Amino acid sequence: MSSDVTRAPASAGLRVAVAGGGLGGLCLAQGLRRAGIEVRVFERSAGRPQGYRLHIDTRAGQALEACLPPGLFELVLATAGQPGHAFSVLSRRLRVRHRTQGDPAAFSTSVDRGTLREILSRGLDDAISYDSEVTGFEAGADGVTVRLADGGTFRADVLVGADGVHSAVRRALVPSAPVEDTGTRVIYGKTPLDDAVRAHLPPALRDGFVAIVGGHVGLATGLVEFRQPPAEFGLRPAADYLMWGLSARLDRFPPLDGLGPAGLHAVARRKTRFWHRDVRALLGAATTDETFLVRVRSSVRIPAWLPSRVTLLGDAIHAMSPAGGSGANIALMDAANLTAALSGAGPEVVPAIAAYERSLRDYGFAAVEAARRRG
Ligand SMILES: Cc1cc2nc3c(=O)[nH]c(=O)nc-3n(C[C@H](O)[C@H](O)[C@H](O)COP(=O)(O)OP(=O)(O)OC[C@H]3O[C@@H](n4cnc5c(N)ncnc54)[C@H](O)[C@@H]3O)c2cc1C
Repeated sequence: MSSDVTRAPASAGLRVAVAGGGLGGLCLAQGLRRAGIEVRVFERSAGRPQGYRLHIDTRAGQALEACLPPGLFELVLATAGQPGHAFSVLSRRLRVRHRTQGDPAAFSTSVDRGTLREILSRGLDDAISYDSEVTGFEAGADGVTVRLADGGTFRADVLVGADGVHSAVRRALVPSAPVEDTGTRVIYGKTPLDDAVRAHLPPALRDGFVAIVGGHVGLATGLVEFRQPPAEFGLRPAADYLMWGLSARLDRFPPLDGLGPAGLHAVARRKTRFWHRDVRALLGAATTDETFLVRVRSSVRIPAWLPSRVTLLGDAIHAMSPAGGSGANIALMDAANLTAALSGAGPEVVPAIAAYERSLRDYGFAAVEAARRRG
């Protein structure tokens, strides 16, 4: 698909360009399309999104229901994980130190990131340009010209930077907005749940999200047991798994830079070699080449910037530690709020964007601070 579009935006309706086809950008695209607004998503990557567990709650549930066509929302629910019932803290010998019962009435479930992203992109084939990186923009009173890495341009009424923690749109729009390295590193891995592995699952791990504390390192675990297999709905096959993440301050790990999946997996095993044998067995049975490293980064609250035809959502403006379990929830919430703002805007989009950004700064940065405390 050529990225050069010379046609001016249709005066009858808005045309919105979205940088980034991650969770927030795709949810926004679904919502805008449902509201009858023309949308084009530019996604830098061409490949498959990584599949790992995300916990979503009422905030994401309401946003997805508002933005997705009913059939796709039902698909999210059908392919979600079995709900957990509690949050437990265990010692490295797997003694229960603390257990909090979940609220059975609240919407709280796990989803596989790859499956969710596949559902969010359903029906948008003609609206997503893959392998298409946004490098900058020129915004004026009448519209925005989006610049792409292939030299092409795209003219729109509004540009939304949904391009994640290293957002090119944020760097150009609010260059003063810092993203800090918190100094925490997390080695994530996936262990497929076959019968042998299930035999090593202590009761607390079957019961919900678990944090195992062991001196200077911590291990978080969560199951994804699909209510119905994604393949039954024509989605990419995905099997049940245990996701785990071993976290510590940078100086508590050996040098991690440059380590591939096998090297990271070996570090995780070494760091837990004196832990309960079930933990060792669960990490030992992981799919080594799906091990990856996250350098935990966090945004910092900034004062209001001048509203314009360019705005931001999700990690692009409020990146936060995964410890809060909120980043995706809030990105989806942003998408629903921005859909509502733009669909009620009429020709005056900037006041609508200003109102969206006012509330975004409140709840978004509050979530960043909560995640920092929890991390
Ligand atoms: C291991 C892990 C576990 C997590 N667990 C949870 C959880 O349980 N619950 C929760 O709520 N959150 C969780 N999070 C956080 C959550 O994943 C993020 O907050 C969420 O993905 C943010 O969505 P987003 O759309 O803003 O950004 P992303 O999902 O990061 O999407 C950004 C997209 O933009 C694309 N892109 C980047 N630059 C450009 C460019 N210049 N041009 C075009 N495209 C570009 C990227 O390829 C990407 O597809 C977790 C994060 C990690 C890493």
